[in-house]
Amino acid sequence: MPQLFRSAIFFRSVAALDQAPVSAGEIAFVGRSNTGKSSAINVLAERKLAQVSKTPGRTRLINYYALGAERFLVDLPGYGYARVPAETRAPWEKLLGAYLRERRALRGLALVMDVRHPLTELDRRMLEWFRPTGKPVHILLTKADKLSREAGRTALKRVVREVAALAADVSVQLFSSLKKTGLEEAESVFGAWFDREPTEVL
Ligand code: GDP
Repeated sequence: MPQLFRSAIFFRSVAALDQAPVSAGEIAFVGRSNTGKSSAINVLAERKLAQVSKTPGRTRLINYYALGAERFLVDLPGYGYARVPAETRAPWEKLLGAYLRERRALRGLALVMDVRHPLTELDRRMLEWFRPTGKPVHILLTKADKLSREAGRTALKRVVREVAALAADVSVQLFSSLKKTGLEEAESVFGAWFDREPTEVL
C-alpha cells in the first residue's frame, strides 16, 4: 500500500502566495464545488483533513498539509459555486490563477470532477489556464460508485478522448471515496510526480 498521504497533517492556510511555505514539492487538488474533492483528500490521507462541505464554496484560502520532507498536499477551494458573491470570487480567482501559474514548487494538479458531470466549462478553463505551465494533470472522476461498471468505463473513455485535445500531459481515472476505489492508482501517479524533476515554469 502506498503511504504518500497517510502522514499528512494540517500545516497552514494561506490567503496570498507570499504566505506559502518553503516547499520541496507539492500537489494541488482543485475542482468544482461539491464534486467530492474533500472526501477524496480525506480518503487518501485516511483521516479527516479537509472539511466535507455543508456550505460549498465558502472557504477562500489555500490549505497546506505537510507530508514530511518539505512536501505538501495543497487543497485549493472549489470553484463555480454560484452563491459566492462576485467580490469574494474575484480576489480568489486572482490568487488561484497566480498559484497555478507561478508556484514553482507545484509538481502537478489533481483535478477532481464528478464522473456524472465531467468537463464542465470551468473545468475546461482550468485546463486551459494550467496548460502553459507544462506540468501534469491527473483527473479523478469521483463518485464512480454512482455509476455501473460499464457506465463508468464509458465515461472514463469519453473523458480520456476529450482531454487529449485540452491538455498536453494529462491522465484520468475513476475514483470513489465511498467505496475506496482508485486509491492506489491515484497514489502511484502522485508519487511519480514527486519523484520526477521539477518542471520549469514558463
Ligand atoms: P467538495 O465540495 O468537492 O470538497 O465535495 P465533498 O467532499 O464535500 O463532497 C460533496 C458531497 O458528495 C458530500 O455529500 C459527499 O458525501 C459526497 N461524496 C463525495 N465523494 C463521494 C463518493 O465517492 N461517492 C458518493 N456516493 N458520494 C460522495
